Amino acid sequence: MGKIRVLPEVVASQVAAGEVVERPASVIKELMENSLDAGARSLEVEVRGAGTGLLRVTDDGAGMDREDALMALERHATSKIATAADLASVQTMGFRGEALPSIASVSEFVLRTRPGDAASGTEAELRGGKLVAVRDAGCPVGTTIEVKSLFFNVPARRKFLRSAATETAHLDRAIETVALAFPGVALHYLRDGRTVYRLPAAATLAARAAELFGAEERDTWLEVAEAESNGIRVSGLISQPGITRADRGRQFFFVNGRAVENVFLSTGVREAYRQILEPGRHPSILLHLSMDPRAVDCNVHPAKREVRFRHGSVVRDAVREAIEAALREARARWLRPVHTHVAVRSEPREERVVLPAAVQGAHQPELPRPVIPEVASASPAPAADKEQGVAPRATAEEFRLVGALSRRYLLLEGAEGLVLLDQRAAHQRILFERLQRGVAGGAVASQRLLSPEVFELPPRAHEVVAENLSVLSGAGFGVEVFGGRSLKVEALPDFLAGRDPRRVLEDFADEWLGGARAHGAGAGDAVRRAVARLAVDEAGARDEREQRALVTQLLSCDLPYCDPDGRPVMLQFSWRDLDRKFGRT
Ligand code: ADP
Ligand code: MG
Repeated sequence: MGKIRVLPEVVASQVAAGEVVERPASVIKELMENSLDAGARSLEVEVRGAGTGLLRVTDDGAGMDREDALMALERHATSKIATAADLASVQTMGFRGEALPSIASVSEFVLRTRPGDAASGTEAELRGGKLVAVRDAGCPVGTTIEVKSLFFNVPARRKFLRSAATETAHLDRAIETVALAFPGVALHYLRDGRTVYRLPAAATLAARAAELFGAEERDTWLEVAEAESNGIRVSGLISQPGITRADRGRQFFFVNGRAVENVFLSTGVREAYRQILEPGRHPSILLHLSMDPRAVDCNVHPAKREVRFRHGSVVRDAVREAIEAALREARARWLRPVHTHVAVRSEPREERVVLPAAVQGAHQPELPRPVIPEVASASPAPAADKEQGVAPRATAEEFRLVGALSRRYLLLEGAEGLVLLDQRAAHQRILFERLQRGVAGGAVASQRLLSPEVFELPPRAHEVVAENLSVLSGAGFGVEVFGGRSLKVEALPDFLAGRDPRRVLEDFADEWLGGARAHGAGAGDAVRRAVARLAVDEAGARDEREQRALVTQLLSCDLPYCDPDGRPVMLQFSWRDLDRKFGRT
């Protein structure tokens, strides 16, 4: 009897603080969100001693009068929702009325605030959640909240803080996230007395990202044009294919302005980048989604990081479609110069890959050269443009083949700058897509072996092959299980003619066991990737005609920028980049 007690307010706040205030970065996040909810157009954020010294957020938002200021420090005091029904459609960042009292309960806390219609402001000082003093204060319109000695009275929590470097990284991330969520709000970030960045209000996310990440990185982003699908609007920026990172440090999702994590969002990204990511690499993603607030539940996690979608798969599809469209559009931009080029000269565009005669005839197996389409040579000649009545301007948009570097790379001049192309990667991409198209059309040419080969593979490799017989046959393999442990191979895809069937299948099995699943790719892609890799040898194009053919063929691929393993095929150095490097700007 008498064992159950209602917790004193301060203790209850400290318990809540355990959930809301994990570390200095969570304090900064809550304070910045309050400022944004108060309509701030400009924020100053100052941090000292990795956040345990000082955390201060100053805004030019609506401010509070004395009554509201004191009220705001009470538990479950919020101006943002009034009834449970409001919860279903919250538009503000906050709504739990927990942050201020929680933070105040575990720190030395000062609130200074003044509403627009008041001559002076209020200053409230708290220590460990207890009000120490309230006084008038001369201060500008808006609110400043200062948090010192975080966790001074909860040593257990203080012990759990990580190194200063780690806490600082979390702070940086939290502030960066707000900067990207609200490009239109000016943001000055100071750390230990020095400005980390001072971002002016930006008109677009792209402008904000350029300010935040620097001009070098700006050139690697692609715009995701705003598109709507099933009531979900998606827009933002993604990195160009082939430009990836080892971590997810540049992935940000915002739903109705709130930074969130959700498995459907990451799945949408993974699906869009299928086939163009190396395992363990991640694209950069800045995506803003807006949708009916009733379709998303933000009240799942005390810090509101995780959200739940009413229709997760619809959100996933919207993300995937938006990214795919951006990748397609980027590809069209790459292609435009070449199409202009071809159209100007009205040359026959040979889509089909023509194999070297010896392979087509294939009376004897011959190691095939890398497969290159037969396309008429098309070197830029302004005179020809005039003949065709096309403005000379068109030639400026063409890729000019400058030459080859050590037979590995091709050098191209494009409208936007210098392009370096990796020949082997380009070949792999071309073959990979050719196989995809072939499979879709049900016709990949196969080449019969002079006599069938029967052999055994190690048990796991055997199993993989046996499980994927139909995919393999779709890719031009004639292979069957022959008795218990043996395989019989009668045919190979045409451009693998002459290869050792055992090695080809072993390579496929390695590919499949080693990472195909991590790719989120099906068996079909694993086969195609292995085949494309095997078929391409190191030697590059032999002459200018082959070089041109390679470029043309590459640029008619769906995803010309990276090979099937996600490594870049082309690297672009924009004029802006070059000028900058040479100090011309
Ligand atoms: P919530 O944000 O969930 O409402 P908080 O504890 O974070 O709860 O804030 C409590 C209340 O204090 C808010 O609802 C708001 O009315 C007021 N408030 C907090 N910070 C500010 C600020 N920077 N400017 C104006 N009002 C604020
Ligand atoms: Mg809040």
